[in-house]
Amino acid sequence: MTDECVFCMIANGEIPATAVYEDETVFAFDDIAPQAPVHVLIVPRAHHSDISDDVPDDVLLALMRAVPKVAAAKGVAASGYRVIANTGEDAGQTVHHLHVHVIGGRPLGEGMVRPMEGE
Ligand code: 5GP
Ligand code: ZN
Repeated sequence: MTDECVFCMIANGEIPATAVYEDETVFAFDDIAPQAPVHVLIVPRAHHSDISDDVPDDVLLALMRAVPKVAAAKGVAASGYRVIANTGEDAGQTVHHLHVHVIGGRPLGEGMVRPMEGE
């Protein structure tokens, strides 16, 4: 727990969120600003700033094991989805509490990023 971390506050029930999945290590909820019909965030209950933050193996395992469970809960297991972990400034990470996005419910196109200007 760190003060003023929005995902710690959601974990503590201080900020409401629409729950999708939870277990003893991670929880998942709908993103407040969805970029596709399905846009869920999976978050460890413990505070780690990002994937580079010496995250314990059991937390990483729980985070990834939750992905197909979230996809099934949201009905996109068969149609497919994208898993993203924005890390640091160039990736545009805005909440510095480790999380993965599960995005789907529409075709997302090939590739993962917009081309650079001029490409
Ligand atoms: P990042 O850019 O750090 O990978 O993504 C952070 C995500 O958290 C964004 O997609 C943003 O919409 C979402 N988010 C930020 N604050 C809240 C909140 O209070 N509730 C929910 N449900 N999502 C949030
Ligand atoms: Zn936190």
